Amino acid sequence: QKHEGVALIVGVTGIVGNSLAEILPHSDTPGGPWKIYGVARRPRPTWNADNPVNYIQCDISDPEDTRVKLSPLTDITHVFYVTWANKSTEAENCEVNGKMLQNLLDAVIPNSPNLKHICLQTGRKHYIGPFESFGKNIPTHDPPYTEDLPRLNHINFYYTLEDILFAEVEKKEGLTWSIHRPGNIFGFSPYSMMNLVGTLCVYAAICKHEGVPMKFPGSKIAWEGYSDCSDADLIAEHQIWAAVDRFAKNEAFNVSNGDVFKWKHFWKALAEHFGVEFVEYEEGGEEVKLEELMKDKGSVWDEIVRENGLTVTKLEEVGTWWFSDLILGGECSLDSMNKSKEHGFLGFRNSKSSFVSWMYKVQACKIVP
Ligand code: NAD
Repeated sequence: QKHEGVALIVGVTGIVGNSLAEILPHSDTPGGPWKIYGVARRPRPTWNADNPVNYIQCDISDPEDTRVKLSPLTDITHVFYVTWANKSTEAENCEVNGKMLQNLLDAVIPNSPNLKHICLQTGRKHYIGPFESFGKNIPTHDPPYTEDLPRLNHINFYYTLEDILFAEVEKKEGLTWSIHRPGNIFGFSPYSMMNLVGTLCVYAAICKHEGVPMKFPGSKIAWEGYSDCSDADLIAEHQIWAAVDRFAKNEAFNVSNGDVFKWKHFWKALAEHFGVEFVEYEEGGEEVKLEELMKDKGSVWDEIVRENGLTVTKLEEVGTWWFSDLILGGECSLDSMNKSKEHGFLGFRNSKSSFVSWMYKVQACKIVP
């Protein structure tokens, strides 16, 4: 088969990487038929193995490993960069993530003569600041966020990545870029460092196993206020659009579903889906944090996995408790999708359907019962 596009997905087992690996092979995907290379650090997991992807196990934080494994791929036309490393300070994040992107581009740009476009995924923290700045009264922007807002006066690994990208595309004539800034992502990946839906499914499964009601591990503002999210398949479609559409070149875009929801409604849907007792958020009640609640549940999880014949996972892989506590603990700041629409991307998702469909996916892949 003759291929039009040749994609390199960097982070193919991640929450958006997995969606790209599922969507790019479809016969009606723009820019196709696609040949796909997928890079990730660990051996290929079973739940990613059905996608027609040339899987390359490579650690892009290691320049030599990156050079040896990726410089021979001379037919790449598009790069989808959907990976990151999480360190303890933002200064370290800047350094480590900057090196990863630099290693990758050093291996790909000089060796892929047909390289046309690079999609870089960052996120809404572009406007809010990195996790370490949360709650510290550092001035940030007023939501809804638009792409033309200036950078904040705080280091941010997203800015480091952008600057490396801007410098690198200069080296090859005609090479274009796009930057994609999702909010909280609803998607599927047991290997993701931040996976809200997967984490909540695991929490629900543990509550069900123990026969306890599912308390809301968050704040009143998250329970009652408006939240939004970014569906992983929508983000993949947004990146593919930018990769092939001439009106999307050399621009940064927000990417979110285009609607809002309240956690109190989704909490009910979650409880009903797993057959767990729903409880309302209790004002003035004891603070519930998943990191605390789940800290001794490793052996309970192993038992649930064994009893139900699930894909073998460790609790710390599938339950990103710190992330859920952070997201549900505060207010969700919304973004604007106007720029994407004005440039021709009219994609959207119904967040309720998105939430429910990812719950089914987590079950279908036998991550939770
Ligand atoms: P992820 O954690 O879901 O997946 C990361 C992928 O990269 C995995 O396939 C992993 O194996 C791979 N990987 C990690 N280190 C690697 C290395 N050294 N070499 C090769 N592969 C490696 O990723 P994500 O959540 O999609 O994050 C991508 C970007 O999106 C980040 O900048 C993140 O901050 C941003 N973002 C994520 C969310 C979210 O909810 N997950 C929300 C907004 C923004």
